[in-house]
Amino acid sequence: MKEMKQEGKMFIFTAPSGAGKTTIVRHLLKHYDILDFSVSATTRSKRPHEIHGKDYYFMSVAEFNQRIESDEFIEWEEVYEDKYGTLKSEVDRVWESGKHIVFDIEVKGATNIKYMYGDRCKAIFIKPPSLEILIERLTNRNTESASSLKKRIARVKREMTYQNTFDEVLVNDMLEVAKKEAEFFVETFIYGRPFDEEE
Ligand code: 5GP
Repeated sequence: MKEMKQEGKMFIFTAPSGAGKTTIVRHLLKHYDILDFSVSATTRSKRPHEIHGKDYYFMSVAEFNQRIESDEFIEWEEVYEDKYGTLKSEVDRVWESGKHIVFDIEVKGATNIKYMYGDRCKAIFIKPPSLEILIERLTNRNTESASSLKKRIARVKREMTYQNTFDEVLVNDMLEVAKKEAEFFVETFIYGRPFDEEE
């Protein structure tokens, strides 16, 4: 594994829900020791497989609001009536450990972080091959109630309009290809070229 030669960077993965960004983010984190995940804070309830401190910092609305008051967030947004936010302490934690940060966040938060960190940050919009396929994936996921699914679909349509504001658009048609493309973005952003192109 190479030493980090430069200051810490950021990779923001954003997408309409169901576009497969979490799968791609997990792949990258497993593949590169030099990356670490920005664990967001949220007021939504923990799903059975999730771990506090690894997937999210789960907290009450009161605690979240108190942290907003104390200016502890870089950004936060309301998503489907819950709050999600990136804590300043997460960015410090990852950069102080000598790694680069990976975010898995929705489009508005992604836009805000990109605006704040500019060239230190590569913002990648993951796009499903089509809206129809995305709706099908969301429906098949079976994690949502009918009303929640309806809200998610409406949001997806809105989020698709943001794609051109990011540094890269990655179409997640065939997952293996999308993973390779994401690897290319990471390697070229950190080292200026893919690893295997070294003399
Ligand atoms: P889920 O509840 O499915 O885990 O996440 C819902 C949405 O919130 C996803 O699009 C996820 O990427 C986004 N999200 C997670 N953490 C953050 C965050 O810290 N800030 C923002 N703006 N969005 C987040």
